[in-house]
Amino acid sequence: MRLSTIRNAAGHSTVAVRHEGDELVLLPHGDVAALLASGEDWARRATEADGPRVAAAEAWYAPVVPHPNKIVCLGLNYATHIKEMGRQTPVHPTLFAKYDGALVGAYDDILMPAVSDDLDWEAELCAVIGRSTRHVGEKDALDAVAGYTILNDVTIRDWQHRTREFLSGKTFEGTTPVGPALVTSDELPPGASDLDIGCSVDGRTMQESNTSDLLFDVAHIVSYVSTIITLLPGDLIATGTPGGVGAGRDPKVFLRPGQRLVTRIEGLGEMSNRVVRDDPA
Ligand code: ZN
Repeated sequence: MRLSTIRNAAGHSTVAVRHEGDELVLLPHGDVAALLASGEDWARRATEADGPRVAAAEAWYAPVVPHPNKIVCLGLNYATHIKEMGRQTPVHPTLFAKYDGALVGAYDDILMPAVSDDLDWEAELCAVIGRSTRHVGEKDALDAVAGYTILNDVTIRDWQHRTREFLSGKTFEGTTPVGPALVTSDELPPGASDLDIGCSVDGRTMQESNTSDLLFDVAHIVSYVSTIITLLPGDLIATGTPGGVGAGRDPKVFLRPGQRLVTRIEGLGEMSNRVVRDDPA
């Protein structure tokens, strides 16, 4: 089952479920997080739902979860990316966060800030939490995951490296596409392992890897974060990016206004986002 949050012309959002075919059935919840928080039988209710429909091709996709309580991100979680960034293999997961103002939909424009020319891509598998979870062991951790989606942790690379903390370069307004749909865990391998992942810029492949290369897998990450804080329905966990980012190339390559970034994960579909200059004037 594929769950999306879509917007209508007035900007209000609603959950849409795609059973089969090219139509989405609208559900009486404002976004995917609200559906996940509405009770343990959310999957059954979404499966059986019938109601107003829209054509999938005409839907305006919001971020799968527009306002998650938490967006937890991993840095340095693929060996190829650790090497290109000149870092040591971490003993513990490298965690950072971003805020919901950074999120955009799967086909929305990415805003390139006026203060930087170093806009870089990071294709990532994103786990969506389905239930309130604290202190879960690795063995049961995947039960907390409702499903998976695609996230591109688009990074303002020079601002990321201004200080030791990554946050400044990771949460610029309107830079992080997430979507187009949460694909429920039952449709994917456990932990969404062994899925091809990558991205391209104007048709040129920039990243090409597989989620089986994650250093810390989804079960480990969920268990680890739940040791720190209660995970809530709709929380997003971005699992890190493989090698091939623009800053790891020689010479470095960054996104330019007008370019199109396409991010794909096997079984989850793809996002396609144009880069536009964010003009503060
Ligand atoms: Zn990242």
